[in-house]
Amino acid sequence: MMVKDNLILAEQKISEACKRSGRDRSEVKLIAVSKTKPVEMVQEAYDLGIRDFGENKVKEMLGKEPLLPEDICWHMIGHLQTNKVKDIIGKTVLIHSIDSIKLSDTIDFAARKAKQTVNGLLEVNISGEETKFGFSPEELFSVLDRLKQYRNLKICGLMTVAAPIQNDPEENRPVFRRLKQLSIDIKQKNVDNVSMNILSMGMSDDYCVAVEEGATCVRIGTGIFGVREGRE
Ligand SMILES: *Cc1c(COP(=O)(O)O)cnc(C)c1O
Repeated sequence: MMVKDNLILAEQKISEACKRSGRDRSEVKLIAVSKTKPVEMVQEAYDLGIRDFGENKVKEMLGKEPLLPEDICWHMIGHLQTNKVKDIIGKTVLIHSIDSIKLSDTIDFAARKAKQTVNGLLEVNISGEETKFGFSPEELFSVLDRLKQYRNLKICGLMTVAAPIQNDPEENRPVFRRLKQLSIDIKQKNVDNVSMNILSMGMSDDYCVAVEEGATCVRIGTGIFGVREGRE
């Protein structure tokens, strides 16, 4: 299928999921995950009205950014090495993948040096799989005291990557529900500098379920640009 047909379908499915769960379509942002895909395809999605794009590698994002319209909002969604942080300050609207205190400290420091404010999400590893990045749900509560001391990094919510689904997207519903509940619990603590307005969850195979469970950002790659070849 072409990008256009894929986008129409995704838009329709997001709208239906919003309707089913009594939400307004404007509460959910579609982020087109363009990793490994050429700038021509990003431009195609842009021309169809998409403004938010997700990349998981700093080098790739910085390579595409100057070749594409300036009003694109770039989202960093992949594991970020601390030595690359300074390169993306000012180039991304939201870092979804803050997965350690070492990284959040580095972002705050780099943002301060650059006199910028950076918005970020805490990545949560709900399933506890060793291979996944992110804070455990328990850890989240123990780092709040530190996050409130930041001056240039604002924590705006939570993000998770659920497991690849085996058969049925329903398998990931408990993961999304848990992330939503965590955001409610953290919000109740009223921590300075930490708001919980953004919930980034749901990918091509399970974004409808994620929207039903309260996602405010869905990250759709394959479902828009088709399958990726080679390494990511
Ligand atoms: C690649 C990626 C996506 C998109 O995955 P699809 O299954 O292609 O939709 C979403 N989130 C993250 C963090 C990713 O790395």
